[in-house]
Amino acid sequence: MNNFVFLGPPGAGKGSLAVKVAEDYKIPHISTGDIFRANIKAQTPLGVKVKAIIDSGSLVSDELTFELVKDRLAQDDCKNGYILDGFPRTIPQAEMLDGLVADLKVVNFQISDDIVIGRLSTRRVCKACGANYNIKTLPPKVEGVCDKCGGELYQRDDDKQESILHRMDVYREQTEPLINYYKNKGKITDLDASIETDILLGEFKRLF
Ligand code: ADP
Ligand code: ZN
Repeated sequence: MNNFVFLGPPGAGKGSLAVKVAEDYKIPHISTGDIFRANIKAQTPLGVKVKAIIDSGSLVSDELTFELVKDRLAQDDCKNGYILDGFPRTIPQAEMLDGLVADLKVVNFQISDDIVIGRLSTRRVCKACGANYNIKTLPPKVEGVCDKCGGELYQRDDDKQESILHRMDVYREQTEPLINYYKNKGKITDLDASIETDILLGEFKRLF
């Protein structure tokens, strides 16, 4: 089964690689961050509830996040596998997921803090379709405009300097312990995430 978990700090390129793997392996890319942002944009009750937490770079509660993921994994398109990007992010979330899925393949994105901070502060996202750009390394053809849909590009509130540093602390305290958690279960594969996405995809396909 191709049930992947992409684990790594913010800015490691989990989302960028997930988009390509999803295409290649014909499995859905499930990003809890994207789901939350879509809810914020549509001003759903969930979106209204989580907006301030997300903008500050803190984590949404484990229960709420798990319910969301559980519902998503129950959908038909997940039958042949999926990529979880940004979930689990805490030990309790990992334990809840273990109660649901037995055959996970966890990919550990390894990258230095310096690269991560550089990538996040120059990241831009399409308001309409969520596509990611980078003003230094992956600029759109026309400044401020999405290549894919013509939507407006913006900087996420949590990609501003204070939130970036807070998110890295949150990662270190709450998410990094998952590396040992999965290592002990023999489920983890390390990936050098400092290289460009297309090369990373090649490496991923060689491994899985
Ligand atoms: P990143 O670019 O940092 O990987 P994401 O887009 O994955 O960010 O997530 C953005 C925000 O959404 C997080 O900082 C957090 O507030 C919330 N979030 C996403 N996934 C989870 C999760 N599994 N548990 C709790 N909060 C989450
Ligand atoms: Zn777009």
